[in-house]
Amino acid sequence: MPELPEVETTKRGLAPVLEGKRIIKVHQRRDNIRIPIPTDFVKRIEGQKLKTIVRRAKYLQMFLESGDVIICHLGMSGKFVIKAKDKTPFAKHDHVIFETDQGMLAIYNDPRRFGIMTICSEDELEGHKLFKEMAAEPLGNEFNGEYLYEKIYKSNSTIKALLLNQKVVLGLGNIYVCEALNKAKISPYRKGTEISKEDTERLVPLIRDILSRAIEAGGSTLKDFAGADGDLGYFQHQFIAYGCENEGCHNRGCKGTIERINQGGRSTFYCPQCQK
Ligand SMILES: [Zn+2]
Repeated sequence: MPELPEVETTKRGLAPVLEGKRIIKVHQRRDNIRIPIPTDFVKRIEGQKLKTIVRRAKYLQMFLESGDVIICHLGMSGKFVIKAKDKTPFAKHDHVIFETDQGMLAIYNDPRRFGIMTICSEDELEGHKLFKEMAAEPLGNEFNGEYLYEKIYKSNSTIKALLLNQKVVLGLGNIYVCEALNKAKISPYRKGTEISKEDTERLVPLIRDILSRAIEAGGSTLKDFAGADGDLGYFQHQFIAYGCENEGCHNRGCKGTIERINQGGRSTFYCPQCQK
């Protein structure tokens, strides 16, 4: 599943292909992905110049000259493939294809179809049901120790659940929550009420650092096909906790072993030795 760093990498990969370019054709090959694609989707995009692409949580917002904004979410298995236009037929799960005046294609491919492709006007964006009441971005200035503490200190939910809650912080995802809690040596079982301000002050920079590194890793993957055709898919990460069941804990001085537990139907990987 694409996490925030993959979405950011996708944005960076799409930018040189789409930004400042005119979309001369939209190939829409289905009526819906997770939700219906608006019936006027193609008409509102064709002929428009794409000004800029912004990532908001795990959504991409593509701003058009007309004042409309294409909204895209990669869902569970969505990705963009970039290639020069040729005669090869589109693949089975290529659902929406943007063709630019430079002869390039940005192909949205999504086998499991949990993704979203829709459009609204810039004026509607803030109040849009996908975006209203959104919490802070983990890489934005608003997200700091104080902010996180205020959001969670009264809660009886676990810190694991709280960090995954989109009303607390946006788009963090299971992997990065496991990684951050391990680095911060905070038990995933602790409740919001058991988290101190010191904890949140320690946790927030670690979260930012882990995400930034993953984005950097994605950036170096992008360089491998800079200027050429490419698959803005998923890149390899080095995780220290997530997926590392039965491996030694990486925290300095800790001789513990990473365990896998189930929390709210999802796997949590943590070290019972140092995560207190
Ligand atoms: Zn440990």
